[in-house]
Amino acid sequence: LVALENVDKWFGELHVLQDINLRIRRGEVVVVIGPSGSGKSTLCRTINRLETIDKGAISLDGQPLPAEGKALAQLRAEVGMVFQSFNLFAHKTILENVTLGPIKVRGIAKAEAETRARELLDRVGVGHQAEKYPAQLSGGQQQRVAIARALAMEPKVMLFDEPTSALDPEMIKEVLDVMVDLAKRGMTMVVVTHEMGFARTAADRVVFMADGAIVEENTPEEFFGNPRSDRARDFLSKIL
Ligand code: ATP
Ligand code: MG
Repeated sequence: LVALENVDKWFGELHVLQDINLRIRRGEVVVVIGPSGSGKSTLCRTINRLETIDKGAISLDGQPLPAEGKALAQLRAEVGMVFQSFNLFAHKTILENVTLGPIKVRGIAKAEAETRARELLDRVGVGHQAEKYPAQLSGGQQQRVAIARALAMEPKVMLFDEPTSALDPEMIKEVLDVMVDLAKRGMTMVVVTHEMGFARTAADRVVFMADGAIVEENTPEEFFGNPRSDRARDFLSKIL
């Protein structure tokens, strides 16, 4: 579904992505882990073209990523993204946060968008909060709204960049549960996380990055049980 081929990117002198080759199949859950600064967020951001690349090619559904205009807006709808900070519109209600994209970008009628938004909010467990404003919700609830908002665009793939890092411990599970449910429903997902429990149980594949390169990729069983590279062993010894 998503293919990165020989992708290179520099930030000035910094070679932040080094010859990245990655294919993500439909329905696959790929967890990306690695030390701080290894390029995980940058990799995610290239897939919805929040970052451009200097070499190589990225395609979604066999089509090269569009550079601009309507096609780019369409791409951003097809590639849902959830960040560490929830980025909800503070002066809009929860319901409006979820219906805005479908109405503006997808051209869906308001009533239909609201019906669908309420279904999604119910699914992530915040249906009863639809008329509230983001500040009235807990961090975990806001992050679940952010997931519902991305899903409302009916994305082909969902990118999660450390979605639970800013949350208090008791709220992490409720967000991970929503992500596990999404994975079970067959959503194609790329997840940057330090939650190794999630990686072990939900990932089809673990991609380990260091210094801008993919150093190792394997099933979670193999990766955690038998890491092949020194970098991965060193990283795992620090976090597990
Ligand atoms: P973390 O685990 O801390 O989130 P990461 O693996 O997501 O790290 P990136 O955010 O992708 O790492 O950053 C990779 C490198 O690129 C870092 O050295 C970072 O300082 C640098 N970098 C990121 N964004 C920019 C930018 N816009 N301009 C210049 N350098 C950047
Ligand atoms: Mg990051």
